[in-house]
Amino acid sequence: MSASRFARVGRVPGEIAVLGLGKSGAAVSTLLRRDGERVYASDGGTSTALTATADRLRGLGVDVQLGSHDLSRIAAAALVVASPGVPPTAAPMATAREHGVPVVGEMEVALGAMPALQYIAITGTNGKTTTTALVGHMLRALGVSAVDAGNIGTALADVALRDPQPAWAALECSSFQLHDTPGIHPTVGVVTNLSPDHLDRYASVDDYYADKARLFANADAESIWVLNGDDQQVMQLHGRLGRTTALPGTIRTFRIGAPADAWYDPTNGTLNLLGSPLLQRDELALVGDHNVANALTAALAVSCASDAFATDAARAHIAEALRSFLALPHRLEPVPTSDGRLWLNDSKATNVSSTLVAVQGMTRPFVLLLGGRHKGEPYTALAESFRAHGKSVIAYGEAAHEIVRDLGALVRVDRVDGTFADVIARARSLTVAGDAILLSPACSSFDMFRNYEERGAAFRRLAQGEGA
Ligand code: ADP
Repeated sequence: MSASRFARVGRVPGEIAVLGLGKSGAAVSTLLRRDGERVYASDGGTSTALTATADRLRGLGVDVQLGSHDLSRIAAAALVVASPGVPPTAAPMATAREHGVPVVGEMEVALGAMPALQYIAITGTNGKTTTTALVGHMLRALGVSAVDAGNIGTALADVALRDPQPAWAALECSSFQLHDTPGIHPTVGVVTNLSPDHLDRYASVDDYYADKARLFANADAESIWVLNGDDQQVMQLHGRLGRTTALPGTIRTFRIGAPADAWYDPTNGTLNLLGSPLLQRDELALVGDHNVANALTAALAVSCASDAFATDAARAHIAEALRSFLALPHRLEPVPTSDGRLWLNDSKATNVSSTLVAVQGMTRPFVLLLGGRHKGEPYTALAESFRAHGKSVIAYGEAAHEIVRDLGALVRVDRVDGTFADVIARARSLTVAGDAILLSPACSSFDMFRNYEERGAAFRRLAQGEGA
């Protein structure tokens, strides 16, 4: 590996310490070994999965430690590669900082290993995964080799290990990943929207936004930025880098209800791209205005990424890709049933703002399954939008009490204290063919399930008439 790969963080040759052996830690350890680096990898856990990973990595010559970290070895490392899951307050991170060891993330290493990769980097508070999947789907529809990677699930280091490597990547970047990817330099950089989040990990909203602004760290005249023209925080985000000058490169915007480079015209139901209609809203299989925004964002980002993607033929492929894109699992995902009801699995909605966009997207009578483990936010913000088409809120799980307290006087609330199967049975009894049943719980799932995926899977099975 050339010493210049980590030039921005001042790397010198020596041992590289990888912290955390989840998917991305394992992939980057493999990549670094392939490139001949000396690698020490440690993880505080000792699970069976970690043991299997450790065995495999040891076979590649990685020095692996499970159950604890050797802080003196980390202090002496030339570079630390940290998993996004390791909090900055963790002892190994503090050790690296104290000893001036540069810390980067797996993405930085992977990008260094693929200098020819072109990528559309997508960040923002909500809609990252959907937009990333849309971008990847469009790129493939255009006939180029493209992967979806980063926070969406496939570690970029895994992509770097492939042969041949793809020409393009749709790269989902969380704020934590941006913090540790100082060399990020996308062909197109996208910010979907911004609102307060992750306050368990950041001292303030400003710190969170400052990490998002790192998307622009290496902006130059060739850069292209696709930004949410309806979101002032997004439009002003580059200012948080401490620059007083304008953001270098070309800025393109998307908007809902007002003209922009990509925009939705609600008066005629048209999604417009770069001056002309692209497709009608009812051709999209996705529910909700937020998904119209995601569709516009992805179409704009892809058509700006290369001259070859801006031709009339390419526009036709992009429109076709939008028509064929189905909702991602657990994100307003329709569950096929034969009872005439529309069952929507939005189990990924684990906070009030994501449930609100789902409720706002409903256009037929529906019941809302709200509940799980309470996260502290009041539910009152849902009431007004719910009234448009909502028949009843079914309050369940640990949060049932708070939901009744917040919404009971504002909309009809039915409380169900039993199992999740009881919740589904009540939803069925309160609806008729043509109605929708929306699981968009605004709570975490941990009172009844291991995670939101398991909750969504139970909803699907019960909707289809099978036992949970
Ligand atoms: P992320 O990866 O940023 O969490 P997802 O695409 O996984 O985003 O969507 C998660 C949830 O966020 C969705 O279920 C939806 O409720 C909400 N959401 C998606 N896109 C948007 C958007 N453009 N604006 C606001 N909320 C959105």
